Parts: sequence; structure tokens; C-alpha cells
Amino acid sequence: MSAPVQAKFPMTAGFNFAIEANSDGARAGVLTTPRGVIQTPAFMPVGTQGTVKGLTPDQIKTTGTQIVLSNTYHLAVRPGVDTVRTLGGLHKVMGWEGPILTDSGGFQVFSLGHRNKISEHGVEFRNHVDGSPLLLTPESVLDIQARLGSTIAMILDECPAGGVSRDEVAKAVVRTHRWALRAHEHRSRLDLFEPMAVFGIMQGGVHEDLRKESAQQLLEIPFDAYAVGGVSVGEGRDALLSTIGLSAPLLPFDRPRYLMGVGGLEEFMIAVDQGIDMFDCVIPTRNARNASLFLGDGSSLNMKNARHKQDPNPVEEDCDCLACTRYSRGTLHHLYQRKEILAYTLGSIHNLSVFHRFLRKARTAVLDGVWEDFRDGFLSRLSLRSG
Ligand SMILES: [Zn+2]
Repeated sequence: MSAPVQAKFPMTAGFNFAIEANSDGARAGVLTTPRGVIQTPAFMPVGTQGTVKGLTPDQIKTTGTQIVLSNTYHLAVRPGVDTVRTLGGLHKVMGWEGPILTDSGGFQVFSLGHRNKISEHGVEFRNHVDGSPLLLTPESVLDIQARLGSTIAMILDECPAGGVSRDEVAKAVVRTHRWALRAHEHRSRLDLFEPMAVFGIMQGGVHEDLRKESAQQLLEIPFDAYAVGGVSVGEGRDALLSTIGLSAPLLPFDRPRYLMGVGGLEEFMIAVDQGIDMFDCVIPTRNARNASLFLGDGSSLNMKNARHKQDPNPVEEDCDCLACTRYSRGTLHHLYQRKEILAYTLGSIHNLSVFHRFLRKARTAVLDGVWEDFRDGFLSRLSLRSG
């Protein structure tokens, strides 16, 4: 096996990443930011509109959340960056003092593909609200994130849909690299309201050689850390898992590796095993709003199912979340059936708690030197259930 890749440049002042233990590929790390410390591996709940839907900041915290993600594109459209700035920045708007990672808006742009026009300059976009134009460039997305007061900003990348030709993925790698260079150039001109790290994003689809090319180019640019982008775009489950496996080791061992837009206990297990440290995904909160609650073994319950109607047991016995310590499955069933707001709040609290607890257990297993047992035990129980 080749020696692990090391980062070539220091991190922004106020930021640090230390690995406390590693086992196979999995690592237990500590990412320090001026807004607080994040023990990794860590999951970031998504607060699309500047709010993790249905949860107060205190409730978000009790689930085990250390850092939240918010969406640059959505905030830029509504309420608008100037409004956020006038209100004191994104931390004030969200009522959240801890670290915030913002995406670049690139993913929304590409996922709402029919509304955009991509050129070398950037992406011209008609917003989904009133159709007015919004120009996202490598420079403007960093300006927006700086004005929001983001703790960790993401660069603009070109994220092609899954299933496009190899040729198109290769072009996206080249453009993403040119945009990354422009983003880096622009950092010295940013009007910062607080210290902000910037993460680069690797592309390359499911192609090993393109992933390598993208990583090699990206690592020559002094970003604070690097993310695996261009995944979870409809490439299919097997391709996703193999792409994680071939991408993670290409990124510096001594920096947090962020797998964008992927969530789920099995996905966490496989990705952490490959050396991924950070995750985000809308699934826990979105599914909670659809009455789908996760269990720690990777399965889930539909709380609208009539079999829960008179069940006095909690959703999960050993879960210490508000939903499980104070309410029964029967109560949750009733709240979901009646579409009570509390159902969405309790469901989101529970699902986030399950995700965070799983990653904390993974972290503890690495620290205790029993990672392989933990991983193999989980995966064999999973295959027994699905087999
Ligand atoms: Zn719970």
C-alpha cells in the first residue's frame, strides 16, 4: 500500500485537525474551529432555509449536533444575503452559536439543471421563486458565504448528474479545477466578518482515473480540507460505495474528509471505514416528516402503521432522545396520524439522535481499538436482516 497523502499547506488560523486514533482506514479526529470543536466522524444536519426544520437550536444540540449545514443558494434567494447581514449574520439568524458549514450553491444549481446556463465564467441561474437571474461564480459564492458569516465555506464546483458520459465528467473535472484556482485567488480579497475555512471539492464521477486527476490538481491548491463531491447524484448504490472507496484515500490523511450529501447508517459504516470524517444529508429530518423513524441497527419504522397504535414502548429502548424518553410509539403514531407539528419535531430529534449516536459509537470503537469488530458486527447483522 502506498503512503498516505499529506496536505501541502497549513490550515487557516484558528482551524486545526488532529487525528486521535485510526484503525484500518477509520479515524477518530478533532476538528477545531473558532466557533467550537467537532469530534469526528460527524454528521451535519441540513438547515436549508437557515433552520433545521421544526427544531430550536437547543433541541438541535441535544441530539448531539456539533455543526450544522446551511444552503447558500436558498439563503441568497430568500431572505437574501444583505438581509442576513443586516440581521447580524447567519449565526444570529439561526440562533446557533456553533460552527456552520455552507455549501456553495453549486449542487442546487446542478440539481435544478433546466434553469441554468453554465459558462466558463460561472452559472447563470433563474431562481426557483420568481425566476430572477442569479449569477454564481467561483468568486461570488465565496463572497456570499463570507457575508453570511459561514465557518466553513465550500467552493463552486461543476457537479454533473450521475449517468452522463465519461467525456462530460472529464470536462467537469477540468472546469472544477479552473474554478478552484479562481476561488483560491479570490480568498485574499474576501470581506470577512469572522474566520472562515474553505474546502475544495473533488469531482470525477465513478471513474478512478478522473478522481485521481481531480485530487492531484486540487491538492496543489491551499484549501483547508477537501470534500468528495459528485456523489449521490443517481449513480446507483454500488457505484456510490465503490466511488467512496476509491476517492477517500486520494485526499490528505491529515485533513478532514467530507463526503457530500450521503447519509444512512450503512453508508456511514462503509465511508468511515474508508477514512471519511464528515457527512451531511437531508434524510433524517425529511424522513422524520414522513413518519419514517430510524433504529440503531439501520432499519426503520413507519410510525403511521396501525400496529403502533396501542404500543406503550418507546421508538427505541436504548435511545436517550426526548421522543424516546418521554413518549411512546402509540403517542407518536397518534401525533403523526393527526399531523401534529410535534410529531415532526420529535421524529427529527430521534432520527438525528440515531445518526449522531451511531457515529459516536464508531468513533469510540476506533479510539478503543475495536473498530473491525464493530464494523463486522454491524455489517453481518445488516446482511442477516436483508438476507
Ligand atoms: Zn429516540
